[in-house]
Amino acid sequence: MIQERKVIGLKQYVVKLEDTIHKVSFSHNVSVKDILDFNPHLQDGRAYIYPGEQLLIPNSYHGKFKEKQGECVKEFSFGDVKAYIDKWRGHRLLDASVIGKSVLGYPLYLLKIGNGPKEVFYSGGWHANEWMTSKFLCDWIDVVLDNYDKNELFYGDNLKSIFDKVTLYVVPMVNPDGISLVQQGNYPNHPYYHTINRINKGAPSFDHWSANIRGVDLNHQWPAGWKQEADESPQKPWPRHYSGTSPLTEPEVLAIYHLTLKHHFSHVLAFHSQGQVIYWGYRNMEPKISKEMVDRLSLRSSYVPVRTADSDGGYKDWFIQETGRPGFTIEVGVGTNPLPFRAYGEIWANNVELALEGLKISI
Ligand SMILES: [Zn+2]
Repeated sequence: MIQERKVIGLKQYVVKLEDTIHKVSFSHNVSVKDILDFNPHLQDGRAYIYPGEQLLIPNSYHGKFKEKQGECVKEFSFGDVKAYIDKWRGHRLLDASVIGKSVLGYPLYLLKIGNGPKEVFYSGGWHANEWMTSKFLCDWIDVVLDNYDKNELFYGDNLKSIFDKVTLYVVPMVNPDGISLVQQGNYPNHPYYHTINRINKGAPSFDHWSANIRGVDLNHQWPAGWKQEADESPQKPWPRHYSGTSPLTEPEVLAIYHLTLKHHFSHVLAFHSQGQVIYWGYRNMEPKISKEMVDRLSLRSSYVPVRTADSDGGYKDWFIQETGRPGFTIEVGVGTNPLPFRAYGEIWANNVELALEGLKISI
């Protein structure tokens, strides 16, 4: 009941790129319900809000909103990666650079952490509706840098001694275009409006979308059994699982491809969110040490090692085939993507030590 509420005023807010109801609520210190009450066209807190749309925001105040460590109260998007990079700028342990651009022109950020001779690579945000993996990697780096500065032990480990031996490379968000689509939906001013509508058969929801903005699955694009995977997958651009017309056609994939060839990663961890397991094999091409390494990753989380998924064409598959070195797909979370915000607690708890162990398994 609007009349009963102590509202001393309303302001108009113009929705920006990447805004969601939860993000607007957070930045204005009002509740999601406040926004819904004054904007009755919005059905619930997960309704899309589009750039240029006007919202009424009441002047209710709920205290300064904060997100605690291991908590997720709003969507995590490209702008959040950028905000973290701005925060970290000048840190002696971290360098940020750009390794390419997405189809829509978003920079694909690479973070380099540490000074050691051994190179390790983590990546996340491959699939549009798995943006929590991007959030996890960024939150984790932030806590690592904080503990490094304080010279405190991090889950029993001395970070200085680890980062003297290891340099960790991280691409936290491989698919910013798709992530933005899942969070904000499609709208007439979107540069791919018609393409997206065609691929999605006009459906207004994008929760099931894991591809990039052209409907290509970035983890089906790799020249490792690509043909076989492509033959068993959708034959045209699709919200998920379409392999493209040939391997390595998408700019996001090419950026990771060139990065991988340029470095000598001792092993790679690719973060996804379909099932609380760790895939560690590929067609018997994985080295012997992969088994020992996955057991250690498993011990530091509750995730179960699984040797192979019944699939080809993934980054981990290609990395193992191309280099003969260990590659792992970490499947955080369980349930339907995008996972609800409350799933993040499990993801944080299980991966904070797993990601640390990932630096130690080869030193
Ligand atoms: Zn995935």
